[in-house]
Amino acid sequence: RYGHSSLNQIHQEIYAYAHGKQSEIEELKQLAKFRRQFLADVSHELKTPIFAAQGFVHTLLDGAIDDKNNRMKFLKKAAKNLDGLDMLVQDLLTVSHMEAGDITMQLEPVDICEEIYEIFDQMEENAHKHKVTLKTNHERSEEIKVLVDSQRIHQVLVNLITNAIKYSDEGGVVEVSVVDTGKRQNVIVKDRGIGIPTEHLNRIFERFYRVDKSRSRAIGGTGLGLSIVKHIVEAHDSEIKVVSTPGEGSTFSFELNKYKPQ
Ligand code: ADP
Repeated sequence: RYGHSSLNQIHQEIYAYAHGKQSEIEELKQLAKFRRQFLADVSHELKTPIFAAQGFVHTLLDGAIDDKNNRMKFLKKAAKNLDGLDMLVQDLLTVSHMEAGDITMQLEPVDICEEIYEIFDQMEENAHKHKVTLKTNHERSEEIKVLVDSQRIHQVLVNLITNAIKYSDEGGVVEVSVVDTGKRQNVIVKDRGIGIPTEHLNRIFERFYRVDKSRSRAIGGTGLGLSIVKHIVEAHDSEIKVVSTPGEGSTFSFELNKYKPQ
């Protein structure tokens, strides 16, 4: 087989083969490590709300149920933790489907303006509770058609706007704008909230990565919101971008394809 190869060439080929195997092994090792870490993270994230709910229910069973004042308080806390658990499991399923690559995209024409107003209507109460104002640069009646997976883009906007509200202080403003870039539509979610220090910017899209663990936990959230956003935006052949200044606010943006009727 090697009739025409020099010994040197043979050595080179064998070396390349062995080297290839070595990096395959390294890759598998890396993957296994990643899986173990993910499982550890998931278990930890699941345990937190389970332990809390368990604690409140057992306290009730141990007698707190007879205390009129505490009864409702503990039940509400147990319910809140169970709701959080439900959200976490839903997000985990979404992430695991996406990472396994089994997401089928259903592209259809969507009026992104209408979508934004619909989400504003849904979130009005939440924004009001946080004393945050929701704004957009378009009128309700305007029509801006993009070709996207409607449900998934809905989720991207919900996740980004929820974060923008959550990480704003009272009196904050969250502005969602759509800017025509010629080829595509640029969707921008801007807040004037707490901001993100530069050293954390490229890590916030990782699963369960939080800038301030205790603060994010207290505010609530699964820690998976932005990793879901990244997956969905990339499935639309786009990239999620973020610019942020601590104390001034954050701006997340991504581009979507225009819908052009034939
Ligand atoms: P979480 O459920 O913790 O909000 P996400 O994946 O949505 O999880 O976000 C990851 C982390 O990125 C958050 O814990 C927070 O530290 C930071 N973050 C996300 N959005 C914002 C924002 N608009 N302003 C400031 N920090 C943010």
